[in-house]
Amino acid sequence: LKEMPCPLDKSTLGNYTWGFLHTMAAYYPETPSQADQQMMKNFITGLARFYPCSYCADHLQKEIVSNPPDVKNNYTLSMWFCNIHNEVNERLGKPIFDCSRVFERWRDGNKNCFE
Ligand code: FAD
Repeated sequence: LKEMPCPLDKSTLGNYTWGFLHTMAAYYPETPSQADQQMMKNFITGLARFYPCSYCADHLQKEIVSNPPDVKNNYTLSMWFCNIHNEVNERLGKPIFDCSRVFERWRDGNKNCFE
């Protein structure tokens, strides 16, 4: 019998989650409807409540109060997630990412990635 794979550790979960969040933000509409914008706010509120690392979730909850998600369009949302991620990077002593390259990193950078 093959062994059951390990559940995700905090670091892998974080890595996969950021990949999803930045990609989602990059493909969020350029002109979202009011309903889209409300749903995205609700999604982020839910993420901050249910993210399965309690102190990460606590930090995120505080962050969205002091710096509410900017759901106006894909650019503002991408910048918002980039800044939130950089706040975590700073806390963990990781390099600060250049947010002007966020679309290049998560959407436009290497066209071969989807082939
Ligand atoms: P990650 O930080 O996971 O980054 C993945 C990739 O994203 C990088 O390789 C880089 O190409 C790109 N990237 C880096 N910074 C940015 C940016 N600012 N914008 C766009 N792209 C970027 N861990 C803790 O120990 N404590 C916490 O409080 C904590 N809070 C978290 C909160 C959330 C919402 C999430 C999703 C994760 C959190 N984590 C936390 C996990 C942590 O942020 C990392 O995901 C984890 O340490 C793995 O880091 P990594 O080196 O693989 O790169």
